[in-house]
Amino acid sequence: MTPATPLTPVLSRFWDDEQPWTLETYRRHEGYQALATALAMPPDDVIALVKESGLRGRGGAGFPTGTKWSFIPQESAGSPSDAAAKPHYLVINADESEPGTCKDIPLMMTTPHFLVEGAIIAAYAIRAHHAFIYVRGEVVPVLRRLQAAVAEAYQAGYLGENILGSGFDLELIVHAGAGAYICGEETALLDSLEGRRGQPRLRPPFPAVAGLYACPTVVNNVESIASVPPIVRGGVDWFKSMGSEKSPGFTLYSLSGHVTTPGQYEAPLGITLRELLEYAGGVRAGHELKFWTPGGSSTPLLTAEHLDVPLDYEGMASVGSMLGTKALQIFDETTCVVRAVRRWTQFYAHESCGKCTPCREGTYWLVQIYERLETGRGTAEDIGKLLDISDTLFGKSFCALGDGAASPVTSSIKHFRDDYEAHLDGGCPFDPYASMLVTPQEVTL
Ligand code: SF4
Repeated sequence: MTPATPLTPVLSRFWDDEQPWTLETYRRHEGYQALATALAMPPDDVIALVKESGLRGRGGAGFPTGTKWSFIPQESAGSPSDAAAKPHYLVINADESEPGTCKDIPLMMTTPHFLVEGAIIAAYAIRAHHAFIYVRGEVVPVLRRLQAAVAEAYQAGYLGENILGSGFDLELIVHAGAGAYICGEETALLDSLEGRRGQPRLRPPFPAVAGLYACPTVVNNVESIASVPPIVRGGVDWFKSMGSEKSPGFTLYSLSGHVTTPGQYEAPLGITLRELLEYAGGVRAGHELKFWTPGGSSTPLLTAEHLDVPLDYEGMASVGSMLGTKALQIFDETTCVVRAVRRWTQFYAHESCGKCTPCREGTYWLVQIYERLETGRGTAEDIGKLLDISDTLFGKSFCALGDGAASPVTSSIKHFRDDYEAHLDGGCPFDPYASMLVTPQEVTL
């Protein structure tokens, strides 16, 4: 059966070229033409264009990108203020580390110049003369590829002083993080970039007012910034011809897990998982879908009954989940949902920064209860305790990590309470060896 919605490769359209990461290949595909167009426009017009396009942040929250840019105090927008007089900064969040999320790393590895060109246009729009790409430090090949792309852009006159004779100057710095998941939270990222331990900041003030070095700062996701050059080149109407009214445009969906052909599928927002699975050859042969995540492990998991819900911000919210990073992890009927959620919970407990009590303590105790359940030592009260702790985490933690840790727990109990109850009778019914799954820390307790 042919899927109803066609794929829309834009950022991925020449991924199969030979050496798609080079400046030469990028230029062959209209690369840096959008930059010339943008530099010929007043910065406020560039902000207006991105605002009008309806581009929403691709990092998970879905906040409108152009609106975020317009929050930066501008001298030209009214009376000069202290904030407008300070330097402005653009920071690109390339610290991709959510379990299941794998879109920014392939994008930067394959076509890094989309990000470099988008960064220059965004910096010009918000009148920033310094921009930073904060990359997850473990992905050394991506770091090297980005550094090479930035060096090529400097050499070609797209970075540095008087870019393309416009009078606009920009320094673009590629910065490697040290491998903490919490540094993907924008204010923890800013602390880390300043050389401090990465922990979320209290808001307000928001980064648009007091961000990097207490100056007005825009923090955007890699895919959001990489989407800007195609929008400038193709125009608002072209961008809005894809996707839905409130969630326009194309985006990268990452399919992983028990799927025949896992990978990146670039499609309009609003495509369904059923359609994407048709492109991907379906769930692996001989098996059927049990559950899936729409946007990484922190988004409430869904089941086969949600296969036809549009994968956009509104569609996912209508069924109590979130679009997140569009990391579609597929699990078939052989998967123990308790095991899967236990593994994610261990991740969140490990990555909790420890700043607030609900998350620091709550994630620790969730791990202990999951260990009991899976090794046959759980009690009927444990399921209620999981829900109780999750309730203390969700909406009461200092940052979104707490919400993210609670969501898989509550959604899995909602959809698969029977699986949890089956564990009360001697441990994991899916794996007779599960009782051996005790972490070294748990052995000593
Ligand atoms: Fe740190 Fe967790 Fe609190 Fe966020 S929710 S501030 S990660 S302890």
